[in-house]
Amino acid sequence: GLTAHVQARVAPLGARHVLLLVEDQSQARRVEEVRRDFVANVSHELKTPVGGIAILAEALVDAKDDPETVHRFAQRMQTEAKRLSALIQEIVELSRLQGASALLDPGLVDIEDVVQLALDHLRVGAETKRITLTDKVADDLYVRGDVDLLVTAVRNLVGNAITYSEAGTQVGVGARLRGETVEIAVTDQGPGIAAAEQERIFERFYRIDAARSRSTGGTGLGLSIVKHVCANHGGDVQVWSDGEHGSTFTIRLPAAPESLPGRPAANAPS
Ligand code: ADP
Repeated sequence: GLTAHVQARVAPLGARHVLLLVEDQSQARRVEEVRRDFVANVSHELKTPVGGIAILAEALVDAKDDPETVHRFAQRMQTEAKRLSALIQEIVELSRLQGASALLDPGLVDIEDVVQLALDHLRVGAETKRITLTDKVADDLYVRGDVDLLVTAVRNLVGNAITYSEAGTQVGVGARLRGETVEIAVTDQGPGIAAAEQERIFERFYRIDAARSRSTGGTGLGLSIVKHVCANHGGDVQVWSDGEHGSTFTIRLPAAPESLPGRPAANAPS
């Protein structure tokens, strides 16, 4: 297959190119390993809520003469089923993102729209938890990309900021142009993230506190999705935290020329 083809191509070229070949093979092997790990992780993660639903169903059968218990178990089944469906949705989203390299049809995206659409979904939750949600987006910030994916990425970051913070604290979203990069920063006053965890949290299914994450409905996929959305847009995501006093997650994306000073303003994007 590909390896044989690469081999045939580099064979006459000498020793320096053998290194290239080895790198190519190990890259292919790594991709295969990632895929295999993903399938193993997915089946493990799906088993938990499915097992929960099975146990509840059994208990429900036993409790059939006690309407109050039936009601309670049915409600818990509903919660588990909702979680399962959210998990499946995120797994599908992530596997799609992992397969895609570049965006097929990037449009001009206004960052103000991205931030507002992301926050729309979260304002009620923030209010319920008495978290003050503020946003400050500079004028004329545009990137090329997929608005839905970018909304998902920002929503995941702000959703986490709300989830992992105490009531009465503040969560801020800011976006600005820095050089030729659009930076979207989400800051919270939550528990922070220790240096040793800062890389791992972007791995699929990784949670610092699995029990706590599960009790808040977390899947451990949110940040992994953010990372892939950023990569697919030619950007990245970073976290800053001293491990005690909150966290700041920053998405960095190449600015569309329409954002840069001295360029003609963008026509209102549809
Ligand atoms: P989850 O569904 O568990 O939130 P994520 O991939 O979104 O999964 O996040 C991975 C882990 O990173 C979380 O379980 C949590 O431990 C930690 N984390 C993410 N965002 C924050 C934050 N703003 N403050 C503190 N911890 C966070």
